[in-house]
Amino acid sequence: MSRRKKVLVIGLDCAPPELVFDQWRDELPNFKRVMDDGVWGKLESCIPAITVPAWSSMMSSKDPGTLGFYGFRNRGDYSYEKNTLANSTSVKTDRVWDVLSRAGKKVITVGVPQTYPPRPVNGLQVGCFLSPSTTNREKPYTYPASAMQEIEATVGEYLVDVPNFRTEDKAYLLRQIYTMTEKRFKLVKKWIAEKDWDFFMFVEMGTDRIHHGLWKYHDPTHHKYEVHPVLNQSIHDYYRYIDSEIGQILDLVDEQNTTVFIVSDHGAKKMDGGICVNEWLIKEGYLALKSRPATLTSIDKCEIDWSRTRVWGDGGYYARIFLNVEGREPRGIVKRDEYEALRDELKAKFEALVDHKGVNIGTKVYKPQEIYKECNGVPPDLIVYFGDLFWRSVGTVGHNSIYTFENDTGPDDCNHAQFGIVIRHDPDVHEGPCGRELTGLQLMDMAPAILKQLDVPVPADMQGKAF
Ligand SMILES: [Zn+2]
Repeated sequence: MSRRKKVLVIGLDCAPPELVFDQWRDELPNFKRVMDDGVWGKLESCIPAITVPAWSSMMSSKDPGTLGFYGFRNRGDYSYEKNTLANSTSVKTDRVWDVLSRAGKKVITVGVPQTYPPRPVNGLQVGCFLSPSTTNREKPYTYPASAMQEIEATVGEYLVDVPNFRTEDKAYLLRQIYTMTEKRFKLVKKWIAEKDWDFFMFVEMGTDRIHHGLWKYHDPTHHKYEVHPVLNQSIHDYYRYIDSEIGQILDLVDEQNTTVFIVSDHGAKKMDGGICVNEWLIKEGYLALKSRPATLTSIDKCEIDWSRTRVWGDGGYYARIFLNVEGREPRGIVKRDEYEALRDELKAKFEALVDHKGVNIGTKVYKPQEIYKECNGVPPDLIVYFGDLFWRSVGTVGHNSIYTFENDTGPDDCNHAQFGIVIRHDPDVHEGPCGRELTGLQLMDMAPAILKQLDVPVPADMQGKAF
């Protein structure tokens, strides 16, 4: 009888190699066991290293340019007004569960970013943190819709995310994160044990939310670090809890036939502050407003004088920079033959940016055409990592400074880092010894690696390679 191989993917959004592989390695016995018996390494994220597009890049094995979305928010066209949010309907290509479904494999996915609205699979799909409701039967967050009742019967009210996670009420935040995570693990443990599947994948968002909410208590080098009797240990204790849940999951799977991956989409690092990108563009003469707003105002609510504006930007963990190009934007003034020189000029100036103390912050600037195989949709003209992501990009205007140490979208202590983690524990004898560290892995290598484990051919247009 031929054996039935299975793959289980445990996704931990934002889990950084520094904590799992280094700092807490001996305190996380279940992570340690799969590392020692398997292979592991840093997993390089896409650019930008953001949840959307990262998980879809990983699961489709295509870069964000090829996918045609560059973050949560994207320009819908070259007008000034049309912004779109990237959910599952933006993903026009197969992800690994689509390939597996067609190959007749039974698949279950729970909470993988960009799976709302859920789409038909050969099995089950539970929508991600973008799901607006878990009770609206008109717009089900699961495929099939009948899974909604099943989930409710198992865990009561299911949480796709922490409501209002940008809060100063850290006790509330912690309670909500634990409630959400406990429910998710309760559900996935039940389904891992009881359902018929070849491929099972779930993504826990609690790791991301706890980093953003509590990193200043975790990292003594953070500029807002505070000594606190409880909160200094919160992230550590949560990882211990996650480790115990992973231990219970490992007890449920048939290790003779199941390959287990533990993976994250990017890492985490402290946030030193924010660069008010549009304030900077105004100061440097690239952006002109008809009037200065009296209070903090988002750039799309400002009255921009397009006849005198060559460049504008948007905020977030990284900056998206747009040029106002003649013949492309409705009131474009940058001539086509000036475009490349202006991009180079901006790149040089961004890379020279100093902090409030006059020290260069090591900003990195990317041209989409140089980092992606294709550029579909409306790519930014430049993608900027201020201070190599130690600084975020603040899009609002009205700060009267290019630096800010308060986040315009609520308290946030951490930014994303370029490297996440991957651990692979498989039943077969490896080439080389167990416990080895692998190097040079990138998000897009994951989908081919999963297909290889299940002996399903890797589609030719996947950009990564199996490991
Ligand atoms: Zn993420």
